[in-house]
Amino acid sequence: MIPGELKRTIILQGMGVSPGIAIGTAHLIRRVDAPISRYQIEDKSLVGEEIRRFRKAIKDSENQLLEIKRKFKDQEGLETLYILDVHIMILRDKMLIRQTIQNIEEKGVNAEWALRMTLDKYREVFSKVDDEYLRERVSDVEYAGQRILRNLAGVHHETVSGIGENAIIIARDLSPADTMQMKVEKIQGFATDMGGKTSHTAIVARAYEIPAVVGLEKVTTEARTGDIVIIDGTAGAVIVNPDPEIVRRYEEKKRHYATIEDSLLKYARKPAVTADKHRVLIGANIEFTEEIASAVQHGTDGIGLYRTEFIYINRDRLPTEEEHFCTYKKVVESKGIRWATIRTFDLGGDKFISDPRLAAEMNPVMGLRAIRFCLREVDLFKVQLRAILRASAYGRTRVLFPMISGMEELLETKRIFNEVKKELKRDGIPYGKDVKIGIMMEVPSAALIAEDLAREVDFFSIGTNDLIQYTLAIDRVNERVSYLYEPLHPAVLKLIRHMVEAGHKAGIEVAMCGEMAGEPVYTMVLLGLGLDELSMNALVIPRIKKIIRAVTMTECRKLVDQVMGFNTASEIEFFVRESMRRKFTDDFEIAD
Ligand code: PEP
Ligand code: MG
Repeated sequence: MIPGELKRTIILQGMGVSPGIAIGTAHLIRRVDAPISRYQIEDKSLVGEEIRRFRKAIKDSENQLLEIKRKFKDQEGLETLYILDVHIMILRDKMLIRQTIQNIEEKGVNAEWALRMTLDKYREVFSKVDDEYLRERVSDVEYAGQRILRNLAGVHHETVSGIGENAIIIARDLSPADTMQMKVEKIQGFATDMGGKTSHTAIVARAYEIPAVVGLEKVTTEARTGDIVIIDGTAGAVIVNPDPEIVRRYEEKKRHYATIEDSLLKYARKPAVTADKHRVLIGANIEFTEEIASAVQHGTDGIGLYRTEFIYINRDRLPTEEEHFCTYKKVVESKGIRWATIRTFDLGGDKFISDPRLAAEMNPVMGLRAIRFCLREVDLFKVQLRAILRASAYGRTRVLFPMISGMEELLETKRIFNEVKKELKRDGIPYGKDVKIGIMMEVPSAALIAEDLAREVDFFSIGTNDLIQYTLAIDRVNERVSYLYEPLHPAVLKLIRHMVEAGHKAGIEVAMCGEMAGEPVYTMVLLGLGLDELSMNALVIPRIKKIIRAVTMTECRKLVDQVMGFNTASEIEFFVRESMRRKFTDDFEIAD
């Protein structure tokens, strides 16, 4: 790479075979297949020599595997040793040996070519097998065969060494011998071009609970050793060279994932209804369309927040209307969701963008970002709105405007939105007739005039990440003041209560899509405050549902009444944590 060159973020979709999130540094394992030459053994007296060469290569291969097994037998899991045994059995397979020798004798070809013919025959036979597990065992035959071929070619070295800490192993495919030689403790994740659910990489990854995505087709060409890589083994996605903002989001997801136990997944399929029959809607926050399937699996009712600015990563030019449209259509059409909330660009601030129109600013989070930027760059905004409206013809769509700080901004935004609708109508382009308009409630000024804003929209979605930042004057990404970032600060709670009441008075739904909505310890408080929808990182949904189903609205409201009696954030935090711990003994730690 040229020094100073910006590395492009690349997102790849494969098959998630071992769940979880890993963030680490790529370590590429390049396995070069042994070269296969083809020549005729013209001199019949040399056929015997060729067969001996083949037998020796088999013996050498077997000895190498036995050596690896011996070296690692105390360190590794049984599963891997077992697969190594399978490879040794393949090397001893009479059919494989006999068929190859027959090829040498009858076709007069060299050992490499004779073996290749045998391996191809195996591949053909295996490909016809119905059973997926058995079908994939052809890769074991191939590994064993490659080892023999390497020995025939005189290439002996094992390929895996020098793996650093926090490594994400990237390979075309991994053989058991490869994984056996890796220090598993150092490995954070696996990403391979090839493979399926029962491939060796998948089995090993699951056995060691290491997130893995296989079948990525081109991860070895897209990633280089040293690149930062995120593996989302749950969604089956791999992100190479993520933007710091994406890393931040995935660190958050990782934290949530760590708290999820399998036993909670049974709550995924149950509705979020309190013990006294109050229904709360559950949304998922997504950044990529690839996450939708996992959100549905974790029990979401709908997409509560699609952060469309993530479309921008990977690009040095703006997406076309068609590109926007295809993405949004995919989202709204997704199976298993009842609605999709598409938030218009929230660019600027801490959000990546190389667009020169977003010049560097002294205080970017309070600068030309989100709706302010869109109202300045109306043409760009209209392209996105047209695409959202066109996609709305294919599924229930809600459009959400970020960072609204006052009435003028909202009215101007609505004016542009209606203008786009009219243009579509004029051009005979279909769009959904019932697209709901909502605004992010994340600026204190908007919270304070919630009554007025509520009359102009169909729903509110409270963005606590920014709301807390602006209310408490705490930079949300500055570690040095993070101790002051207090979701239960009385000022924040009062603003939330005010927005919910104003929204309900106007007859609209009030959602919350900031991180606070996905913090289990706050769930009872949020129910007591009257939120209609909680939208969160999908991985945490089962845990939140478990809490909702175990409580009554009466006790949640009582908790809020008690909480509102305190005047410091730390008292409230302590009280809420203690209450949650008493009610859910195993799920919460003792408050300090
Ligand atoms: C928020 O501010 O709470 C929010 C959900 O939006 P973002 O994190 O994208 O700013
Ligand atoms: Mg925000």
